[in-house]
Amino acid sequence: MGDPLHDAGGQGHLAPSLDSTLSQRPLQRVAVFCGSNFGSSPRYADATRALGRALGERGIGLVYGGTHMGLMGVLADSALEAGSDVTGIINRRLHERGHLHTRLTRHEVVADMRVRKARMGELADAFIALPGGLGTLEELFEAATLTQLGDHHGRAAKACGALNVGGFFDPMRALLDRAVAEGFMKSAHNDMIVMSADPHQLLDALANWQAPVVNKWITPTQGTGS
Ligand code: AMP
Repeated sequence: MGDPLHDAGGQGHLAPSLDSTLSQRPLQRVAVFCGSNFGSSPRYADATRALGRALGERGIGLVYGGTHMGLMGVLADSALEAGSDVTGIINRRLHERGHLHTRLTRHEVVADMRVRKARMGELADAFIALPGGLGTLEELFEAATLTQLGDHHGRAAKACGALNVGGFFDPMRALLDRAVAEGFMKSAHNDMIVMSADPHQLLDALANWQAPVVNKWITPTQGTGS
């Protein structure tokens, strides 16, 4: 059983130090969002294991939703096996339903999904989405939105990426391209979501990532280029 830092979303001893600059520091902990289902092909679990192994090999800690379900469980198992420090942040309702992975390095039980997401964001230096459904996509978009606004906890901008297993995220990129073409976002904010099918390449890109220096708003006379 993991070692609960606290119950209900207060500050545990993992609270990161505040740094108001945009500069990157080495990736110590990455929050990973991914499906609580397995997906229809074994390649999703294979890619999830590869990411878990890559985190362990690089000594990067994993922060995730704390469950044993679906790809989330596969990720935690593989990261633990590879020597990663794994923190699960789970909400009370799912915890009471028995969804907590039982072998985590530590876990926190928080009031609800919103507090959980905030706590994961607080602990993480960067975010990765693996294939998943509504929960995964919503979490990635929230992290990217906070980076776009420079509004993350502790550090204004944090790197966001997606492990593009079998082109899973290509339609998301196409939708964002459309949003740029239609004048709803700048191309720099589209480009800022890093995508790669290779976990090591993705982690390198997140470690070297620099926040775009454009602001969010587009005046009617401006193009959407950076
Ligand atoms: P989905 O992609 O809809 O399966 O949702 C997965 C995302 O939502 C994960 O990244 C989690 O953060 C959260 N989530 C969904 N189901 C669970 C669960 N049983 N336990 C913990 N988190 C979950």
